[in-house]
Amino acid sequence: MTQNIVQEAESQVSYLEILNRVDHAVWVYDFDNQRVVWGNPSSLEVWGAESVEELVSRDLSCDVTETVSRRLLQYQSDFIENEGVQFKEIWTIYPNGVPQSLNVIYSGILLADGRMGMACEALLASKFDSDAIRSAEALLHTSVAISLYTSDGEPLYKNPAARTIAKGSTGNLKDYFASTQTLQLLNNSDEDEVKTIASVKTADGLRWHDITARRCHDAVSGNTSWLISEVDVSRLKATEERAQFLAEHDVLTGLPNRNCVSVQFQNRIDGVLAAGNRGALIFVDLDKFKDVNDTLGHTAGDNLLVEVAKRFSQIVRGKDMVARLGGDEFLLLISPSNNAEIEFEKVAERIKSEVIKPIFLQGREIQVTPSIGISLFPENGRDINDLLRHADLAMYHAKDMGRNTHAYFTNDLSDAVSTRLNLESELNTALKEGEFVAYFQPRVDIQSNKITGAEALARWIHPEKGLVSPNVFIPACEASGLIGELGKEILSQAVVAQRKWAEQGYDIRMSVNLSPMQFNEENLVEEIVRVVSEGKGNPAMIELEITESVLLGNDQCTINKLHALVECGFRIAIDDFGTGYSNLAYLHRYPIRCLKIDRSFIQDIDVALPIIELILSMARLFKLDVVAEGIETQDQLRELKKLSCHEYQGFLFERPIEYAAFFDLLAQNHHKMAA
Ligand code: C2E
Ligand code: CA
Ligand code: CA
Repeated sequence: MTQNIVQEAESQVSYLEILNRVDHAVWVYDFDNQRVVWGNPSSLEVWGAESVEELVSRDLSCDVTETVSRRLLQYQSDFIENEGVQFKEIWTIYPNGVPQSLNVIYSGILLADGRMGMACEALLASKFDSDAIRSAEALLHTSVAISLYTSDGEPLYKNPAARTIAKGSTGNLKDYFASTQTLQLLNNSDEDEVKTIASVKTADGLRWHDITARRCHDAVSGNTSWLISEVDVSRLKATEERAQFLAEHDVLTGLPNRNCVSVQFQNRIDGVLAAGNRGALIFVDLDKFKDVNDTLGHTAGDNLLVEVAKRFSQIVRGKDMVARLGGDEFLLLISPSNNAEIEFEKVAERIKSEVIKPIFLQGREIQVTPSIGISLFPENGRDINDLLRHADLAMYHAKDMGRNTHAYFTNDLSDAVSTRLNLESELNTALKEGEFVAYFQPRVDIQSNKITGAEALARWIHPEKGLVSPNVFIPACEASGLIGELGKEILSQAVVAQRKWAEQGYDIRMSVNLSPMQFNEENLVEEIVRVVSEGKGNPAMIELEITESVLLGNDQCTINKLHALVECGFRIAIDDFGTGYSNLAYLHRYPIRCLKIDRSFIQDIDVALPIIELILSMARLFKLDVVAEGIETQDQLRELKKLSCHEYQGFLFERPIEYAAFFDLLAQNHHKMAA
């Protein structure tokens, strides 16, 4: 019935006619073309237009800023998705540059070609004060999402930013928060304002928002409501989480790092002990890892660590843990549910068998072995720091026992390591106090028995212990970074000795050892040149002994340093030749003048004869001098003479001796020769 009346009335009235007469400005906007497509006479006034034709002909795109354009697109999609939806806003337009603040009601209207347009109905907002207009504008333009909800969480209002986030959804707050705890937090709070960072469900998926919820009254209904403002802090949050992760993990292997150990390992230990169980802290250090780094380079070293870390991760099960302490040190925590003793052994064996599996690096098959130290809890302590120290001690003991082995902590070990620690600090003082002295061992012509040179060998004259062997302090100096200083000290003494003997008529060649570690020094060459010139020495009479490991890495930096040294006049010799893995055929690539056959070949001369012959013929080919080291017997000397080795060194002729003693020997020897 009513339907009919309405239909009848509609047929008699022209709506356009009505719209043309109302006082309100009414126009239709085409989002896509950014133009007004129709307006009533009142709208012409609002827009300052002469006629509908003129209004319609205006291109509004130049007045539309980026934010307005985004907002308009939001309206368009809101209209498409929610039929019949309306928005009320204060909108300021600038016809002919004059601001006009309008109170506008927007609704969706289909244009003739079926696209979604917008019907706008406006009242001049001149009765609003300017602050109200500005605050309303700010609300529209801000990127802060602002929304109003009833106390039950039903939405009352959302500014464009809030609508963009929710993608037009008008859902309840409880569906917006990813966790129910967030709403509980708001509802349970006594404060008028609650601040929190919460995960929310947005059009872009879950995001972290910094949310401020304020209890207020809805200006329309007077009911209590929530005014919520929120800012997306997902990136900050991600950065924070990443920072947290980095603080607790090792970037290279992704394993937990040392920082993690003190908290997480301790928690686990506490848990195990509380349950009345036992466990083991296993400290693993890779043997000779430094060699891989020194010879194949850091990238290869890194790859090796990553591979080993992967293998360790496969060893631990359940609540067991693994971490990288730094360098080539790893830590495992295990707590078997029963048969603890047997399980500890099993894991130690498993670590050995995993680590020793070959790893391919730069086309080479590399094998490393672990040294493993184990401390048990509660037997050796309950505190992670104690247990770690004890496992570390046990690990050093394992190394002393010859590597690729494991050792349990015992109280005796504490003493041994305090010795090691003392050693490092003692070395420091020894350097400052000038307790290192160069001894000299003669190098002799094998045919004539005439002294051709001397090798400078470091000795530590310890105030209490007396003479300490370099086999004790050289590794410690290398480990503590003192080797560079020590090397220069010995070089300096050697240079002075060489010059003084030369001044007295014995201009013999002086050999000085260079540790592979010293090649890490950037200004190694400059420092050597400096020390030699300060001692007024002659580089041509100085030979620098390097080990094969220095060449192995084929590191361009090292090779450059060798060439630079040769250019400065020094000779380069390879020490302990035959013990490394160097390929004889590659020798000519390096600026080498001399090979020193390692003592071990001389000791086992019967077995090693073919190798010595090979070395000698190779050396002839490349025109290298050869020195046999460690000649102790006449038999050995005779053999090498037969093979036409050039020079020798060894206890048979003389041990390393002091400067003055060497001078006497020199005088005697040359006198004998001359006679
Ligand atoms: P090296 O360079 O191979 O020095 C030769 C070593 O063999 C010396 O041991 C020497 O005393 C010993 N030796 C010489 N002839 C014989 C022999 O007939 N029989 C036996 N059994 N041994 C013999 P030393 O002086 O104890 O030095 C040990 C190592 O310490 C050296 O081996 C060298 O690698 C290192 N070293 C010594 N001084 C320095 C230094 O100033 N700088 C660096 N980087 N290393 C040094
Ligand atoms: Ca040497
Ligand atoms: Ca040697």
